Amino acid sequence: MGGNGSLTRGEEAADASKVSDQSAERTKSLVDWMNLIKPANGEKDHWVLDEAVSKCTSCGSDFGAFNRRHHCRNCGDNLCDKCTKGRIALTAEENAQQVRVCDRCMAEVSQRLSNAKEAVSKPAGLQSHEDLV
Ligand SMILES: [Zn+2]
Ligand SMILES: [Zn+2]
Repeated sequence: MGGNGSLTRGEEAADASKVSDQSAERTKSLVDWMNLIKPANGEKDHWVLDEAVSKCTSCGSDFGAFNRRHHCRNCGDNLCDKCTKGRIALTAEENAQQVRVCDRCMAEVSQRLSNAKEAVSKPAGLQSHEDLV
């Protein structure tokens, strides 16, 4: 009957709005997910608070106008410029950016990187050999 016809149309309209709700929900959860994986300030969390430290944790010289405080990008300690002369990339990636690290971490990170590069170069060497054959 006529009544049934209008009821069917009503259901179709309801379904259409439900579908658009779902896609909006999916977009929102994707944004949430992207916010989760974004490294926003994550690096800074383990840094020692500036207020808590007034001198270099390595050589003990007081920070001031002429002795600027720097953070080691690896351990996060507060150190003076003299004790953070090292610049090194923290990962073995080719395009990794070199960052400021303290003398202690310079040795630690360069050791870690040479180990990582050794591990990476071995299978790569095998592969290129196979390509030649
Ligand atoms: Zn220092
Ligand atoms: Zn360090």
